[in-house]
Amino acid sequence: MTVTPTMKLPGGKDAKPENTRAAGGRESNLILGKARTDRPSREETEAAIRTLLLWAGDDPDREGLIDTPARVARAYEEFFAGYDADPVEMLNRTFEEVEGYDEMIVLKDIRLESHCEHHMVPIIGKAHIAYLPKNRVVGISKLARVVDAYAKRFQVQEKMTAQIANSIEDVLQPRGVAVVIEAQHQCMTTRGVHKTGVTMVTSRMLGAFRHDPLTRREFLTIIGNPASSVGA
Ligand SMILES: [Zn+2]
Repeated sequence: MTVTPTMKLPGGKDAKPENTRAAGGRESNLILGKARTDRPSREETEAAIRTLLLWAGDDPDREGLIDTPARVARAYEEFFAGYDADPVEMLNRTFEEVEGYDEMIVLKDIRLESHCEHHMVPIIGKAHIAYLPKNRVVGISKLARVVDAYAKRFQVQEKMTAQIANSIEDVLQPRGVAVVIEAQHQCMTTRGVHKTGVTMVTSRMLGAFRHDPLTRREFLTIIGNPASSVGA
């Protein structure tokens, strides 16, 4: 079976990763992790959450809901902490004394928690990252933190996949980068078409992972080849 670096979308639509990159450009503002500074106050935010409770048809002044706007605001600080994270700074802390190690480095099954930017509901899944170092390697926890830096924002899976790969490529300048994300979208499972058990798989392959089928296959074998189980 040949696994090509395309993204399998629900419904069988294929999208080339290049499209994601072209559509969003390099998104240098996002890669730098800069959040807007003109955010509303905590008070305004809690008032907006209270409005949502009213709009759903409930009474925000009843005992069970009275502290909910404050709790939701605190939860949002966690869900969207990525806007205050700087992936470039994380990846810049590299070390070079690796005795010439130049083989593939893979971090697989990284828990991923994000939110769909269309419905503001969770996207839950896992990310797999590989790179072929040129001179510098980065601590593996940094790769996991880069996933969080992009996941903890309002996202679409295709864009998030490209952003993670692009930032690793830009900062580490390795011989190749591969990112695969497998995730379930609650906007598909709890509303709309209500299809459970559907996993969306996206990938972005750069450098050797794009040009060398053996390198790509080695990576896909290590992570359990998710692309082959979806619509292939
Ligand atoms: Zn959605």
